[in-house]
Parts: sequence; structure tokens; C-alpha cells
Amino acid sequence: MNKRTMPTLFLFVIVLMASLLMAPSAKGSGILELNDSKNEYDLNPYTSVLEDKENRLVIYDLLHPDVAARFTDAGSQTINYGYSAYSHWAEFKVKNTSLKKDWLLEIAFPTLDSVDAYVLDGTNTVLQKHVGDDNAFDNREVKNRNLVLNLEIERGETLDVYLHFRTEGAAALPLKIIHPVHFAQKEQVSYLLLGANYGIIIILTIYNAFMAFFFRAKAYLYFALHSASGLIMFATLNGVAFEFLWSDAIWWNNRAIGFFMCVSHIMALLFIRNFLPPRSLSDRWKLFCNMFIVVEIFNILLMCVDVVLGLKLMLVKYLFFELLMIIPGVRALQANFRPARYYLCGWGIFAMTGIITTFTESGVIPMNSLTTFSAQIGSTLETLIVSWGLANQIKLIRKEKDRAVEQMNENRKLADSDFLTGLYNRRYIMNRFSSRMSEQMVFLILDIDHFKRINDTYGHLAGDNVLQQIASVLRQCFRHGDVIGRFGGEEFIVLMPDTFLDQARHRAEELLSAVCSVPIHIGDTHITCTVSIGITEWKSDSSDDFHAALRRADEALYEAKRLGRNRICVSSS
Ligand code: GH3
Ligand code: MG
Ligand code: MG
Repeated sequence: MNKRTMPTLFLFVIVLMASLLMAPSAKGSGILELNDSKNEYDLNPYTSVLEDKENRLVIYDLLHPDVAARFTDAGSQTINYGYSAYSHWAEFKVKNTSLKKDWLLEIAFPTLDSVDAYVLDGTNTVLQKHVGDDNAFDNREVKNRNLVLNLEIERGETLDVYLHFRTEGAAALPLKIIHPVHFAQKEQVSYLLLGANYGIIIILTIYNAFMAFFFRAKAYLYFALHSASGLIMFATLNGVAFEFLWSDAIWWNNRAIGFFMCVSHIMALLFIRNFLPPRSLSDRWKLFCNMFIVVEIFNILLMCVDVVLGLKLMLVKYLFFELLMIIPGVRALQANFRPARYYLCGWGIFAMTGIITTFTESGVIPMNSLTTFSAQIGSTLETLIVSWGLANQIKLIRKEKDRAVEQMNENRKLADSDFLTGLYNRRYIMNRFSSRMSEQMVFLILDIDHFKRINDTYGHLAGDNVLQQIASVLRQCFRHGDVIGRFGGEEFIVLMPDTFLDQARHRAEELLSAVCSVPIHIGDTHITCTVSIGITEWKSDSSDDFHAALRRADEALYEAKRLGRNRICVSSS
């Protein structure tokens, strides 16, 4: 994601918010006339409403002129009382001038508990129908995630419809009259869009769960659970959960939204605790976070006892929750934690869209399909962007791992090598021998002749220089598979796997003359030095161990010294 993507996304959300708030809607009142040119009518401008604070009115009371006079215009916006404890009445008149007799009344607010419709025809006969999620899904006359009723109107007939609605959650009444054929087409699209939306979240949730499993990283698991609980919450809000998951569970359906919202919040907090670097999470934040998780659990319990109170607590908490989520993200960004950019971008969008939907549900912002679905769109964007950030974090983790492996190899190399010459050290040589590098090999030990004199004459630094030069001659004289090391002081050792004594002796002779012929520069003077070499053979089927073979090679070396130096002696096994 480049630097400009984040501001562009925020701009997009702000434009979306502005356009939602300014969304136009028709104003008027009177009788809605159904004609042949249109298949879908917004009922809002034709509806008047009455709040029944005592919850005492029955349909016959409404026909009384005193009560009828208390009805007021619903206004141009969708009827929305927010989290209201009262019951409400709505009334509209509809006249059919079309040739079509069968129509549908759609209330696009699936979570309403109960809507009683009273349909009065010209003869004042009252036909009563009921719909809502206080009744098993199978009892609905139109099987749809929204609340839908059949409305039969003869050509030329005018119906007077009263709707009595009560609910424990948000009380809104987006009303429409739609022709059934048109409705079926519209619903295909609506279910398809919801399915696509759920599909994206499900795929990302499974992906993150796999990542949690493979990388043993809790952050991925919590994010997967956060997305999954958010998904079920939205499916409940959309009426899809009641239709397909728990069509009989009325008590649960009313509490599922709150329950999954609380769970989703808890998972979000646990996610950032594990996702953001510990230095961006202050002790005070952790304390608030723990307290908040306790409040969420309390909220779930409260919801079981009193849904309305539980939902109101959710509203009160909302802003606090967003602050709790945003602050450590900003801190992580300041601390140069790159994945925090994705996190903040995703969460910022979700927070803004969530605020729109929360205010819409509570009746502060006018309701339309965009304000209603705003949080759902925001949540999908959030899941996409944060998942992207999590994938990006894997890249970082892998880079860090590569660096650690590199460092480890470097350390091992240092531990195995001689500081002065860069050859292997005694420890490494012994380990290599123990690792059974070959069934048979030759041990070669080399000691510089009269090295003490060089030190005494030219100084210790010059002596070091000589040691380095001899090491480089050794490197040139031996094969790739031979293991060359400095055994200590001015003594070197070479292990020559799969080599016969004759071959080794030949190699040693070359080495002897190479050492003599290489001039060693010490300041302005050039010196040459000689070496003595002891050789022995080792076979895996003998009873010799490393030290026994070493002792024999040493004996051969001392023999070479005794015989006058600058020569090779072989000790046969
Ligand atoms: P010989 O021919 O019998 O081997 O005589 P030599 O002088 O080479 O052997 P001796 O054991 O008497 O002296 C070895 C010297 O090597 C003594 C020690 O100070 C020196 N020496 C050991 N390690 C180092 C080193 O790392 N750098 C230098 N400059 N000298 C070292
Ligand atoms: Mg020596
Ligand atoms: Mg020595």
C-alpha cells in the first residue's frame, strides 16, 4: 500500500458520509396511488405516526377522532425512534389504480420484534396480520430476511393501513410497497450481495485462522475470531441468521447482535495486544483494556436480563472502545512499526462507518440503505486491509528470521575459527573428527622451525605476520575437502580424508618447498622460514582414537625436529 492510499481511503469514507447525510427524499402526504408505471413505492412521505407511551391503545381507539388527531406526519426521512422503550403506531392510505392486485408491504428492518398490521378496506372491515422476530421464521407469510406482508388491493380500492410496532432494540420503519415480481428480482440481487460480502469475510477468516495455526501467532487467531463474530453480528442485523441459522430461537435472536458485538470487541482488543509491539501498549492502556473486557462481559450478562439496557450500554461504550483501539495504533506508528499503517487505516474506516451506523440505529442520523449498511461495508474494508497488514507482517517476520539465521551462522563461524589466521581452531578440528568425516584419513602436523627466534629478532607482530603467511600457504596447498586448522602456538594440523600416506607425503613435500620459497615481508626486510612435518595414518577399523593418532603424528614431528628440521617424518600405524 503506498503513502497515498490511506488518505484516499479516508477521503472516500468522508465523501460517503457527506453524501449519506445529504441524501434527498421526497416530502408530501396524503394517499399513495399505485399505478402501472411503477413497481416500487416509498411509503414514508405518505405515513403519519403516533407514539403510544402507555402502550394501551388498540386499533379501535385509533378510529376515534381525538386519537386520530394525535397522528403527525412522519416527515421525509425513514421513521426511526432509535432505542425506544415505547410502542408506536404508523398509518398510511394506499389506493390502487393499477391493473395489478397483489402487492407486498416491505419493512426493511429485520430486527423489529413485532409488527401488527391492521388493514381497513372501504367497508371498515379489519384484517389483522402479524410479522416480526418474536415469532418463528417459518410462520412468516412471505419467507424473507426482511419483514414482508402480502397486501391485496382491488383496482380502484383504497386501503387504510395501521402498523403497531414494538421492539426491544432499535425501532425504525423503512416502509415500501413493492410488486411481488419486482421484489423477487430485487431480493436476488440483495441476497447475492450479502453472500458476496459474507464470502469475503469467511475466506479471510479461514486464511487468518490458518496463519494462526502455521505461525503459532495468537494475533491472527484473535483477528479471525473478531472477523467471525462481526460477520455473525451483521448476519443477524441483516435478518439472515434468523432465516438460516436459528429460525426458532427468538430469545437468542434478540440478544445475538449485542452478544457478537461484545465478543468482537473483546477479540479486537486481544488482537491488538498481540499484534502491536509491546512498547506501544502502556501499562495504563493495558489496565483500561482489562477493565473494558470485564465491562464487555458484564454487558453480555446485562443483555440476557434487559436487552434495551444492554444495547444502551453498547452505545455508551462505543466511543471509549474506539479510543482504546486507536491510541496504541498511533503510538505504534510513531515507533515506526510499519504494519500499524494497515491497522490504523482499516480500523479508522471501521470506526467512522461504525459511528454512522450506530447513530443511524439510535435515530440521530437519517436512515437509508447506505447509512444502514455503512458499518458492514466498513467492517469488510477493515478485514481486507488488516489481513493485508497481517500478511505484510509475515514478510517482516521472515526477514527477521533470515537475519537471525545469518547472525547465528556468523557466530558459529567465529566460534569455530582461529582469530589470527582465520583457519579452523582446535575445537572445530576435534568435532570434525568426531563427526566421522571419513573411514580413513591422514593426520599432518606442522610446526614452524625456530619460531621463537623470529619473535625475538623481529618482534611478536612480525611473528604473527609469519603465522598468517604460513596459513595462506597451507590454504593453497591442500584440497577443498581437507580440514586445515591452527592447533595452537606455531603448530598447524591438517586432516586429509580418503587419502593414502604416499599421497599425503607428496603433498607435504610440495608444502615444504612452498614454505621455503615464499619470502615473508617484515618491514623492509624479507625472510624465509622452514617447517617440520609429522604424518600418520588413521583408519576407522583400528582401535585408535583422535588422541592416539595425534600422538603418533606428534612423535613423527619430533623425529623430524631431532633429525635437523625442515623435513618430513612418517609414523606408520
Ligand atoms: P622449534 O623449532 O623447536 O619448534 O623451536 P621454536 O622456537 O619454534 O619453538 P618454541 O616452542 O621454543 O617456541 C614457540 C614460540 O612461539 C614461543 C611463543 O612465544 C611463540 N608463539 C606462540 N603463539 C604465538 C602467537 O600467536 N604469535 C606469536 N608471534 N608468537 C607465538
Ligand atoms: Mg617451532
Ligand atoms: Mg612448537
